Amino acid sequence: MDLIKGLSQILGNNLITEREQKIPYMTDASYFQGDLPLAVALPDTTDQVAAVMKYCQDNSIPVVARGGGTALTGSSIPLKEMLVISLARFDRILEVHPEDRYAVVEPGVKLDNLNQHLSRYGFFYPPDPASSIAATVGGSISTNAGGLRASMYGTTKNWILGLEVVLPDGNIIHTGGKVLKRTAGYDLTALMVGAEGTLGIITKAIVKIWPVVESRGRILAYYDTIDKVGSSISEMKGMGITPLIAEFLDKITMHSLSETRGLTFPEDASYMLIVDIASTRESIGRELKEAEEVLRKFNPISTEITTDQAAMERIYEARKGAYSSLLSERSSMSERVVIGDIVVPASELPVALKESEEKVRKYNLTVALFGHISDGNIHANIYADIADKDHMNRVESFQHDFATIAIRHGGSVSAEHGVGLEKKDLLRMEFEETNNQYVMEIMKSIRKAFDPKGIMNRGKMFDQ
Ligand SMILES: Cc1cc2nc3c(=O)[nH]c(=O)nc-3n(C[C@H](O)[C@H](O)[C@H](O)COP(=O)(O)OP(=O)(O)OC[C@H]3O[C@@H](n4cnc5c(N)ncnc54)[C@H](O)[C@@H]3O)c2cc1C
Repeated sequence: MDLIKGLSQILGNNLITEREQKIPYMTDASYFQGDLPLAVALPDTTDQVAAVMKYCQDNSIPVVARGGGTALTGSSIPLKEMLVISLARFDRILEVHPEDRYAVVEPGVKLDNLNQHLSRYGFFYPPDPASSIAATVGGSISTNAGGLRASMYGTTKNWILGLEVVLPDGNIIHTGGKVLKRTAGYDLTALMVGAEGTLGIITKAIVKIWPVVESRGRILAYYDTIDKVGSSISEMKGMGITPLIAEFLDKITMHSLSETRGLTFPEDASYMLIVDIASTRESIGRELKEAEEVLRKFNPISTEITTDQAAMERIYEARKGAYSSLLSERSSMSERVVIGDIVVPASELPVALKESEEKVRKYNLTVALFGHISDGNIHANIYADIADKDHMNRVESFQHDFATIAIRHGGSVSAEHGVGLEKKDLLRMEFEETNNQYVMEIMKSIRKAFDPKGIMNRGKMFDQ
């Protein structure tokens, strides 16, 4: 049977089959090039998603769900004749209940749009990946996105109360609910978070929302060595201070922000630490001073406190744009910026950061280090020339060694970007090195239980 004909009977005009229109779906924000998809489905109802999934299962058509396509690991690209299911038309905010602290949202809603809407109520949805202008609710749930505010609020998994999910066989299930507590059997909501579209298609989410903070201020601190950055944060957390955000940037990143956004930094600074404190109007001044005192223990070049909200916003947006700024500094068409995304316990940061720098030197690469430092999350942004085989070998060796640092210090090879195509080998290495292979076998069994025919995002996360 003609598969396209069958799909168009279900989807009508909500199906893209023209080559030129399918091409944009071949890539995401990673450096991977996908294959031309079989077609692109743009369903607009859950029933339509269910009918498509049943058809795909019956006809063994592999599918990949797509939100904003901002994944950095290749998780949202199609491989070998996959059907792309875009959730772009699921873009409505259905309910907002400040008194019950939840909102019901469709998966294609962009995170910034959700927060703009919630601000009318004096509330917000805390997960804030730097890609929030384009990343969607569904995509960020499926990668368990972290982002800048995870320092205080944790990652996406802490904010999902319930889901509507279409399973590979077309069944529609509802997990969790509209209540803040629930201990009723296995937590299938949690299972879907971070599943990278391997278990089902999310068509609705009940997300927890939170009142906006009353007052916030910022400390900027500049250092000459990277271990001082790690020690400052580790000490701060040990003393019971939980920053709203804590981000660090290295010199390469600061330089690119100067070039692209006109920001200025002290000449002699090799590292910058941005620490935001949230508090009440009465206490904010005192808490900022206390936090600054901790940072000053580690001999910074300078520190400064600000509560100028416009200036703070400018730096916040610049930090969110750091990856794009680095991209615009590429020296050739074949250069990409590949991202390592490890996490270690905060107390291990001083050593892990130092070791990361040593690895950069070992492989003679240009790597910009920045990250959500309060979570122990270090991003290594590696300039990689995909046309140069020797260069790519060194990039791969660096990624391997960088991941080994995470494992050795009790962390993980993937902090927040997920696994996708890029970190499959590193994930396997993590389980092997920690003598935990059986966990991967359990994961494979779970995947098989949901998706016996292996049609969901085939080839991603791990091989079935
Ligand atoms: C500039 C930039 C900065 C970034 N900063 C951060 C950051 O600070 N923190 C962070 O955690 N990540 C960050 N990321 C990574 C990425 O943006 C996030 O992982 C984001 O959450 C992905 O959302 P998306 O809508 O683009 O998902 P997509 O890329 O479309 O999809 C991601 C995965 O989710 C699956 N998926 C999408 N929608 C659904 C659905 N409805 N049901 C089931 N599966 C689905 C896809 O199949 C894929 O496996 C950044 C990316 C960029 C480009």
